[in-house]
Amino acid sequence: MSNKEILKVINGNGKPLKNGNDHLQEMIKGYIVQGDEHVGTSIETPLRADAFEKSDSEKIAVIEDKFRDIMEIMGLDLNDDSLRGTPHRVAKMFVKEIFYGLNPANKPDISLFENKFKYNEMLVEKDIRVNSFCEHHFLPVQGKAHVAYISSGEVIGLSKINRIVDYFARRPQVQERMTVQIAGELKKALKTDDVVVLVHAKHLCVSCRGINDDNSTTVTTEFSGRFKEQHVRQEFLKYIKL
Ligand SMILES: [Zn+2]
Repeated sequence: MSNKEILKVINGNGKPLKNGNDHLQEMIKGYIVQGDEHVGTSIETPLRADAFEKSDSEKIAVIEDKFRDIMEIMGLDLNDDSLRGTPHRVAKMFVKEIFYGLNPANKPDISLFENKFKYNEMLVEKDIRVNSFCEHHFLPVQGKAHVAYISSGEVIGLSKINRIVDYFARRPQVQERMTVQIAGELKKALKTDDVVVLVHAKHLCVSCRGINDDNSTTVTTEFSGRFKEQHVRQEFLKYIKL
């Protein structure tokens, strides 16, 4: 876990530290395990061997039945016009939208281009929207990912970076794993270790239940290759102005 550095920062306005990069650097040198059951697990999403034996429509039908049961057990009247369609809506949303990233068949195709301009500096794509769900509570994790890489000779279409982030976000997740998975995929696609991924997100399971802390946010980082060098790391942090 030496190349995995995780930082959780809490302050009053929901933004990490204000007193400059030096302090931030000190804090991200260590790996800080998050509390509230948000423990790190394996890098791979834990999936059953039979995860894709059922088709999407078979899964939707079964989830619809089970979710109807949950609603009925809670005492809701499914004959009500407003509730009748909910089990199907939830099942379809699970399979086709918010957890589509569980299925490797939905992984975005990555096309690379030759680095014709011989651009050898870092390329930073920041403020990439992250809409994920915590695997401990199935509640939203919303925030932004900031990604940078230094080309090893090929470049990737910018929107592909957004698609990779979205694919790994759209599954029941822990933020640490999502960060490492996005970085791993980019390293593989771009054929370089010179990649950094930083995710800054708000967990609704922290803000709307349990500790009910509406102000805290969580930052996770994966610095690889040249981004481990102090000046390269500083340059990236300067661009994203975290
Ligand atoms: Zn949670």
